Amino acid sequence: MLTELPGFCNSHVHFFERKWANAASIPAAELEQQLREQFTRWGFTTVFDLSSPLANTRVIRERIESGEVAGPRIFTAGEAMLPPGALPSDAVLAVLGAMKYPYPEISSVADAEAAARANDADAIKLFVDAIDRRQPGAMTAISGEAIAAAAAIAHAAGKPAFAHVQSAAGVLAALRNGVDVIAHTTPMSPWPDALLEAIGNAALTPTLSIWKTAMRHDRISTQEQLVRAAQSQLRAWREAGGRVLFGTDSGIFDTDPTEEYVQMAEAGMSWQEIVNSLTSFPVPVERANDRVVIEGDPATDIRALARVRCTIRDGRVIYRSGND
Ligand SMILES: [Zn+2]
Repeated sequence: MLTELPGFCNSHVHFFERKWANAASIPAAELEQQLREQFTRWGFTTVFDLSSPLANTRVIRERIESGEVAGPRIFTAGEAMLPPGALPSDAVLAVLGAMKYPYPEISSVADAEAAARANDADAIKLFVDAIDRRQPGAMTAISGEAIAAAAAIAHAAGKPAFAHVQSAAGVLAALRNGVDVIAHTTPMSPWPDALLEAIGNAALTPTLSIWKTAMRHDRISTQEQLVRAAQSQLRAWREAGGRVLFGTDSGIFDTDPTEEYVQMAEAGMSWQEIVNSLTSFPVPVERANDRVVIEGDPATDIRALARVRCTIRDGRVIYRSGND
């Protein structure tokens, strides 16, 4: 049995891996293969990149939009804003497979305003809190006032504000200061009622599947504890009326979305709710002629969402299984 659905959206991806570097010089067939393996073979017709070197990502987008290579519509936040000390060391970047590029560092409201005004992308992304590389065990954060200042400038320009969060305090600071999309759950840091009461119209990309991957060197019981905590945060978010957008942090974590579908279902989302998150996007975009054809019925097997036969963007086939 085949099922036809609207085109899929991944609202949390990255184009900062080394494989995208010097995008103008990547041969077309190779570029298209990379786009296929990461996006189109999974049905993604529209993606939101939440930090990458903007000029390079633009080249990828232009090579897709000119028709030279088949790929998804790319929206990007450009270079994310970081609190001081948040940029990982060169060694860690190398392990993550990431290019090194300059990020705006935010120590004050003035820094936040300057970075938001200089942002020439489709959104802003703030690392609201992060691990401080300068001090083992410590965190570094962007202040609430600075978050609010950057979000206000983004909103005035018609752009959403995304937040990477590492703790409940980070989520709360983001929600109270105008952030539109929270980019992760924080299973190591429980969410208090005050956080759930602050959700308003914000959306969450739960990225449930990243925790198992991030904790793969730890004991199974530790992994399971974290997975359950992340799932219960998604459940609480939804019970509080919060919106959910599909996102996998593809580019740091797995490109195969199967585990994310399974975990969203385990967290109590119906297949229709999962499809709804997968076919919603943080900004309005014309996607009426995007389609995904999958093998099987997601009503009885949620994994079917990842068995893509064909991906159609704007009426044009950009992926067909068997051709890869
Ligand atoms: Zn990310």
